[in-house]
Amino acid sequence: MKSNPTLEQVIRLARALKWCLKHQCTTCGAHQFRATLKVFTRDQLIAELKTLSEKCVTDTRNRRALLLIMYEMVFFEDFTGLSSELAGSTAGEFLDRAIRIEQERRLNTQIRVEKEQHEKKIKAQKNAQKNIWGAIKRKDMNAISHLLSKNLDLNEIGSAGLSLSAVLVHNL
Ligand SMILES: [Zn+2]
Repeated sequence: MKSNPTLEQVIRLARALKWCLKHQCTTCGAHQFRATLKVFTRDQLIAELKTLSEKCVTDTRNRRALLLIMYEMVFFEDFTGLSSELAGSTAGEFLDRAIRIEQERRLNTQIRVEKEQHEKKIKAQKNAQKNIWGAIKRKDMNAISHLLSKNLDLNEIGSAGLSLSAVLVHNL
């Protein structure tokens, strides 16, 4: 009976044959590598991962393969379970580091998105503050009520020397 290859051998083979190792590859779905992983049960994969040599895990050329294996093992769950199953092994350290990097990446994206939203809001507010004077002059009630919803500075003094709130009171 032909015995299974080790996981380390599969990783070496994938690299040698330049198999696609892209997570969620839209072209091939990394089919070849993922199909080859099917020779292992989940428990076998855990055992294989835990006994991977440090040399194999820390080789950055194996990073994609390792991440793909771990993605295959957790599907849509989070990685916390797998992390505790691999605790104490080099593969476990690899996973924990990958989780930290991913969390930082998500946090940075979130901070950037929030900053962009904030800047957009400030810009809209500045424009509204500028445009409301014209809207009052035109007595455009729709525009005025829309612009007022942008949290304007009602104390701003206009060209007539009156505050925005005073002008609003006079004109509405
Ligand atoms: Zn592919």
